[in-house]
Amino acid sequence: MTQNIHETLETRLGEKGWLTGDITQYTQDWMGELRGDALGVALPANKDDVSFILRAAREHNVSVTPQGGNTGLVGGSIPQSDGAGNRRAIVLNLSRMNAIHEVSARQFSARVDAGVILSDLHGAVEAEGMQFPLSLGAKGSAQIGGLISTNAGGTHAFRYGMMQDLVLGLEVVLPDGSFWDGNRSLIKDNCGYSLRRLFGGAEGTLGVITGATLKLFPGLRAVEAAFLGVSDGDKLVRLGSFLRRELGDFLTAMEFIGEFGYEMAQRNLPNAARPFAGTYPWQLLVEVGASSGRMDLRALLEATLEGALSEGLIEDGVVAQSGPQRESFWYLREEQAEAQRLEGRSLHNDVAIPVGAFSEFVGEATRVCGEILPGVRVNAFGHLGDGNVHFGLCPPAGDGDGEMLFGKSGELAEGIYGVAVGLGGTFSAEHGLGRSKAGLADKLRGGGERGLMRTLKGAIDPDGLMNPGVIVAG
Ligand SMILES: Cc1cc2nc3c(=O)[nH]c(=O)nc-3n(C[C@H](O)[C@H](O)[C@H](O)COP(=O)(O)OP(=O)(O)OC[C@H]3O[C@@H](n4cnc5c(N)ncnc54)[C@H](O)[C@@H]3O)c2cc1C
Repeated sequence: MTQNIHETLETRLGEKGWLTGDITQYTQDWMGELRGDALGVALPANKDDVSFILRAAREHNVSVTPQGGNTGLVGGSIPQSDGAGNRRAIVLNLSRMNAIHEVSARQFSARVDAGVILSDLHGAVEAEGMQFPLSLGAKGSAQIGGLISTNAGGTHAFRYGMMQDLVLGLEVVLPDGSFWDGNRSLIKDNCGYSLRRLFGGAEGTLGVITGATLKLFPGLRAVEAAFLGVSDGDKLVRLGSFLRRELGDFLTAMEFIGEFGYEMAQRNLPNAARPFAGTYPWQLLVEVGASSGRMDLRALLEATLEGALSEGLIEDGVVAQSGPQRESFWYLREEQAEAQRLEGRSLHNDVAIPVGAFSEFVGEATRVCGEILPGVRVNAFGHLGDGNVHFGLCPPAGDGDGEMLFGKSGELAEGIYGVAVGLGGTFSAEHGLGRSKAGLADKLRGGGERGLMRTLKGAIDPDGLMNPGVIVAG
């Protein structure tokens, strides 16, 4: 029966909407490490097509992996058959559903299709004098549906919230092909269970998000940034606290890069800036912004940094003198994942710990990794404001192809996440569980919590059609 799905989908979706042949770009992850397999890629033009695809998949006993920009870092967008040859998979990619229907300055909201790329949304909203504050390194490819489905965080989450906090309404096609239309533009909407939060962060396991209404903010009329050198992790935490108190609501981002990541950026990225001559154990990018043009943010930032200097919290620092210089600071931070990718094969780990435990976490996790694989190189970077550390690992010298590193990947992940959880943190801050962490979650989270997730999955997707193996293992 599964052969017929080709005809069924090709007849409905046409050549542009049903791809077979070389579909590697849809079945391999951004790092080039995870490879899946699929019968083909469906590219629906509208939500009725999505409903048709899900009904056809059910009829032909084929599982469905929803996909946006395929920039996820935990394998959630990579399709997999069940391994026993019983059920094959298709990818349902939302790229063709990319209309921005409305940007409303009256109610500070935008109604968009799920396939809209984040940077396109930024451009459309900024043209109307507003901002959509979520931003991340993959903004040129990641789509609204993917960002909602992973509940992405990014560089401004501590100031404006994560993706779910920015979603007012959602439209979802459920696994049986029926629709849930919750695409309202309300901040206050307490009518029972919060379904929009349930589908946000579900990583394509409960249905396909086809559209959303997003919360906007007044555009920033003044933005300033500084790049700072800090001598140790404890000072970094104290500096973060000092900046929060001194800069108050004007503080929009605090992003850190470790010594190794900073060096990798200089080595691997074209035109990487070197804001100051030295390299410090930690570099911190600080950004302030105001929606009013009447604020002298430069003076506020400079005075605050003088205070930090006199308290011995920073070793060196540069305040950007122009927009392009500010962009060059952001380039160093946002391209950290890319700089690590260009260095060769490597591992990504995403944790959050209470901010006060930052130094302890980095020290202990580095020690644990060094015991498991002597010489392993740590690239710790991330978001200081919310305690989110990306703990990247590069192979030790002499392990050029990363064979030793990947051979120990499970042990290293368990070591790092064990330290984070022991300090009151979590083993997935903003990337989700995907396929990579579903098994780990069963080990590290209580049976009650995991059982509740299985119950929800079984209730909404009783046939296990949607993205099997993601979030809920096996
Ligand atoms: C360079 C780089 C930097 C990054 N920086 C950050 C960062 O700072 N913060 C952060 O949070 N993440 C970051 N990420 C991870 C990634 O960009 C985010 O997870 C993003 O939200 C994924 O969006 P996407 O459209 O690429 O989704 P995909 O990778 O295509 O999919 C991700 C998950 O969502 C599901 N999904 C996708 N679309 C839909 C839909 N319409 N309906 C239902 N399910 C769907 C998929 O099945 C999958 O489980 C980064 C990635 C890269 C490569």
